[in-house]
Amino acid sequence: MGYVMAKNIADSKDTKKRVKEMLEKLKGRDFRITPQRYAVLNILAENKDHPDVDQIYNKVKTQFPTTSIATVYKTVALLKEQGEVLELGFHNCNNRYDGNKPYPHSHVICTKCKKMMDPELSTLDELSSEMSQKTGYKIDSHRLDFFGLCPDCQKKG
Ligand SMILES: [Zn+2]
Ligand SMILES: [Zn+2]
Repeated sequence: MGYVMAKNIADSKDTKKRVKEMLEKLKGRDFRITPQRYAVLNILAENKDHPDVDQIYNKVKTQFPTTSIATVYKTVALLKEQGEVLELGFHNCNNRYDGNKPYPHSHVICTKCKKMMDPELSTLDELSSEMSQKTGYKIDSHRLDFFGLCPDCQKKG
């Protein structure tokens, strides 16, 4: 029953596709898929708000109360190792995770409520090649974050 419940989280086509890709990558690894781990994959693939480990843990726990936070850490670490989740570290808050777009992309983070968004920026590729031209570096990753107040927090004043 729990397994079916976890499966229902994968509502969008995109989420299902990502979970499938993650499972493919984990197949060769010593990774036994359990309903709890499946739920972790779903939450990461769905990526509602770039959750941190605590948020993932709390979500999984509502369905599977016996889940341990170690399970969440281990699953995230394994996915990170396989390049299937992007880890975003910040000096003033917990690491956040994006399992929907596991490749480098830029984010905007609300300094008040920590909400994070990642719209596609049309100029990001240009920026990367400009950096390469100016420095001679062969760029294979980047990190570009924007900080400010989200519309909701602006309204609240
Ligand atoms: Zn905000
Ligand atoms: Zn993202």
